[in-house]
Amino acid sequence: MSTKPPLSEYRRKRDFDVTPEPSGRPAPASKKKLDYVIQKHDASHLHYDFRLEWRGVLLSWAIPKGPSLDPSVKRLAAQVEDHPVEYGSFEGVIPEGEYGGGTVMLWDRGTWTPEVPDVDAALAKGELKFTLHGTKLRGSWVLVRTKLGSSRKPQWLLIKHRDQYASSEDVETLKPRSVASKRLMVGIARDADGNVEKAAKADAPPTSR
Ligand code: MN
Repeated sequence: MSTKPPLSEYRRKRDFDVTPEPSGRPAPASKKKLDYVIQKHDASHLHYDFRLEWRGVLLSWAIPKGPSLDPSVKRLAAQVEDHPVEYGSFEGVIPEGEYGGGTVMLWDRGTWTPEVPDVDAALAKGELKFTLHGTKLRGSWVLVRTKLGSSRKPQWLLIKHRDQYASSEDVETLKPRSVASKRLMVGIARDADGNVEKAAKADAPPTSR
């Protein structure tokens, strides 16, 4: 996703006079540590946006079920447009009718470290191994590209590697709150005049949604 100017697709999809999301500009590649963030996003379909900072933007994947700590579970991750690095601190409500309208929670954040010598080559090859240093997610993971999905979004799988952080626990259900504000989706929606009823459904465990 690097043939066009950085973030052009991100900007084209949004009206920054309406949405509180950052308009973004590519960040200077000066600081050493690379950001990692997951946002729980209650859009037309609830999903978790997994983002890794690389070359001044956040590479982004939408994961319908969110990540799993269980190495035997592969989670579908549809690659979406690169986002600005400052998007990694956004939590709030995108207005209804806007692109991605709905409640956004900062579900996890921290930094990441590539486990490969050449990240660009790994992305091109479709197999990126990395370590997460987050609040909820830690240890070794891999993203593997499978095929071009519907609507021509590259489709990947996010898989936990076996290490001390692997677990069979359902991290989305056990740790539902924002790492930034400790709020649930319903609290974020309420504070920003969002859809509280819909957000309450997003807080409920998957089995009861
Ligand atoms: Mn999203």
